[in-house]
Amino acid sequence: MTAPTAPVDLPLPVLGSLSPSRAGDFMTCPLLFRYRTIDRLPSAPSPAATRGTVVHSVLERLYDLPAAGRTLDAAVALLQPEWERLVAAEPEVAGLFTDEAERRAWLGEARELLAGYFTLEDPTRLEPAEREQLVEVVLAGGLRLRGIVDRLDLAPSGDLRVVDYKTGRAPGEMFEGKALFQMKFYALVLWRTRGVLPRVLQLMYLGDREILRYSPDEADLRATERKLLALWEAIERATQRREFLPRPSRLCEWCDHQSLCPAFGGTPLPWPERVPGPEDPLPHQRAAVEAARQAG
Ligand code: SF4
Repeated sequence: MTAPTAPVDLPLPVLGSLSPSRAGDFMTCPLLFRYRTIDRLPSAPSPAATRGTVVHSVLERLYDLPAAGRTLDAAVALLQPEWERLVAAEPEVAGLFTDEAERRAWLGEARELLAGYFTLEDPTRLEPAEREQLVEVVLAGGLRLRGIVDRLDLAPSGDLRVVDYKTGRAPGEMFEGKALFQMKFYALVLWRTRGVLPRVLQLMYLGDREILRYSPDEADLRATERKLLALWEAIERATQRREFLPRPSRLCEWCDHQSLCPAFGGTPLPWPERVPGPEDPLPHQRAAVEAARQAG
């Protein structure tokens, strides 16, 4: 195995930024990318996404406990405090449920996902090296790749395993490539920053209790880097032309922006006065969006 080219230090000027989800947005639908990344429209919380957030938090905190204490009961006991922590940080999620019975049913589904996790691996036998780890690199040319890895496991041999929990179901064969794209993104950043090629990329689908594993090689990661640079070029071209076209698919069913989408008879928002840079914080634009929706 040849060593990767030297990582590029962060002080390089950052001209653009991509995370796996933002890259995925552009590949799914350029207009969706625009609304999320350029217009920075908020997405309404959903029970499924919120359940995913809480289950991820529980699985992160589970590993704060001594190994012998990492039982299913202990994980389930973390659900309520993690829910309360989320409500304190994002009070709008409290409005997801019409009554306590609905919230309890939702918590029951979260318990099922945790039970699914325990059928896939035994946390008393694992000691993760890192959890919820921010990884980032700036490539030559100024594109920053940034993401948060659920878990990194380091074997005594030095082998690195990248683990991601999914609270949905495993994709069919046709969509496996899309699911692995996110993992190759993380692997590329780790390779470029640490000089270590992760040995295994592991997606854990708690919904149907399946694991998808993949061992990347250097050619994979170089191809992922080329793909991301090409994607960034396409995004820059679309920004210059102010042209982010809708690409309808079955994912539209879950899109928060149908009312602003020409594919659904909506009128797109006017182009913003200023395109946010990679370091801009996420402003809340609920008022502007609501006004545009009501006018439409
Ligand atoms: S509704 Fe579909 S086509 Fe329109 S912006 Fe959303 S994902 Fe894109």
